[in-house]
Amino acid sequence: KKIYDVIIIGGGPIGLACGIEAKKKGLSYVIIEKGCLVNSLYNYPMNMTFFSTSEKLEIGGVPFISHNSKPTRAEALEYYRRVTTTWELDIKLYEKVKSVQKTDTFAIKTDKGNYQSKHVVLSTGFYDLPFLLNVKGENLSKVKHYYDEPHPYFGQKIVVIGAANSAVDVALETYRKGAEVTMVIRHEAINPRVKYWVLPDIENRIKESSIKAYFSSSIAEIREHEVDIMTPEGLVTIENDFVLAMTGYQPSFPFLEGMGIEIGKDNMKTPVHNPETMETNVSGLYLAGVVCGGLQTNKWFIENSRVHAEVIVENIVSG
Ligand code: FAD
Repeated sequence: KKIYDVIIIGGGPIGLACGIEAKKKGLSYVIIEKGCLVNSLYNYPMNMTFFSTSEKLEIGGVPFISHNSKPTRAEALEYYRRVTTTWELDIKLYEKVKSVQKTDTFAIKTDKGNYQSKHVVLSTGFYDLPFLLNVKGENLSKVKHYYDEPHPYFGQKIVVIGAANSAVDVALETYRKGAEVTMVIRHEAINPRVKYWVLPDIENRIKESSIKAYFSSSIAEIREHEVDIMTPEGLVTIENDFVLAMTGYQPSFPFLEGMGIEIGKDNMKTPVHNPETMETNVSGLYLAGVVCGGLQTNKWFIENSRVHAEVIVENIVSG
């Protein structure tokens, strides 16, 4: 049975960058992706615009031209399809890696088959597991952890939970498309790290009460037509049609631990790795892209983590 030099788990921008580097250096490789190409980007809100300018999203020397300085989701999907065909990358789509086991080599088990490899790069991102609210009613179908587009919420009473970029974007977009929006925010204010060109917009909509906001508050219970909100003034019940829980996402720690990667004791649960080589405590097993940050999901982006690809492949080749 074929033994690959390197298997890359996750076909996001950084997994693709790793495939390109491996190919450049003549290593045998395959990228295994559980969904469609750049699955996380595909699942972003339909109308989202990147905060990065297009050249910062480039990989493999393929130019990224967008209509405005900040590309849209649709332009990014087009771009990464183009990168994949330009480099003729070997990528298996809709194949989920279930486990990675190290003996002499790595045994990789997927829902479609088995592979052997001398090295493994884990570039699985953090977008698959939302932080749950852990309240009664969270399992109702009207509660969403991913937001797609505003149209379904026209004329509806919606609650948006959270106060970071995703929550703010959702609140503003649904408000402008005719939803009646209430935000429930754990802290006393909108997150100061919200994109600086969006922050005044949301603050002013709240000030003029176009969007209602409960600060220092949390959801206590969700029912079919109502939600209970715990506020500093006590429990408040409001009518409600949909709950959009924009409370962030996290990497799958059990998946990492299952392959022997130690999780740091710091409060960001940073997976143990050498920042110079990106190798984890399991020799031959590397981390690339946003998964490296653990719970600190705003530390790594495409622009500052695409270099992981070169670092890792360099380390493999010289090893
Ligand atoms: P991802 O793109 O998340 O790729 C990981 C891939 O691994 C996914 O396709 C997933 O399906 C796959 N995978 C997971 N588990 C398995 C498994 N078991 N088997 C097989 N495949 C698996 N970053 C920027 O640089 N600029 C921006 O403007 C920007 N905007 C963002 C907006 C939003 C709404 C969000 C949520 C994030 C944004 N980010 C942005 C961060 C961005 O998501 C990352 O920078 C980028 O996606 C990281 O690429 P990655 O390859 O590390 O991870």
